[in-house]
Amino acid sequence: MKKCSMLRRISEYLDNEVPDNERLIFEKHINDCEQCNAFIRDIVKIRTRIQQAADYEYEPFLTHRIMYVIEYRHREFLAWQRVEVSFKHTIFALAMIVLLTLALWLYQKPETEQSYTFSTITDSTASVLTLQPQEISKQDIAYAVFTKGE
Ligand SMILES: [Zn+2]
Repeated sequence: MKKCSMLRRISEYLDNEVPDNERLIFEKHINDCEQCNAFIRDIVKIRTRIQQAADYEYEPFLTHRIMYVIEYRHREFLAWQRVEVSFKHTIFALAMIVLLTLALWLYQKPETEQSYTFSTITDSTASVLTLQPQEISKQDIAYAVFTKGE
C-alpha cells in the first residue's frame, strides 16, 4: 500500500497551522483516506495520554523512591560483579595450584629404576659403595659378600 502524501502534514492540520483555504481540502481528504484517519486517531490517543499523565497526581517522594530502587539495584549489580570476579580469581588460582603440583610431581618423579645385573658390574665393591642405600638389592649384597675375598 502506498503511503499517503498528506500524512506528513497531519500534525500541522491538528495544530491549526494549515491556512483556511487548505483546511477544507484536508477535511475532505481525511474523510476519504483510511491512512490519515488512523494516523489522526493515534495522535489524538497519544495526546490524550500525555495530557492525562501531566494531570496525574503523583504520590509524594516518588522520585526519591525511584532513585532509591535504582541505587539499590545498582549496588546489588556491583556486588554480584565482585562475587563473579573473585570466583574467577579463585578458579584461576586453583588451576595454577593444580598445574604447579603436577609440574613438581613430574619433575621429582624418580626415573625408572636401573636394574643391575651381574654382567654390568665390573667392580662389585665400588658399585655397592657408590649406590644409595635404598638402591641396594639383595642380589647386590649377595654379590658383594660372595666376591669379597677375590
Ligand atoms: Zn491521506
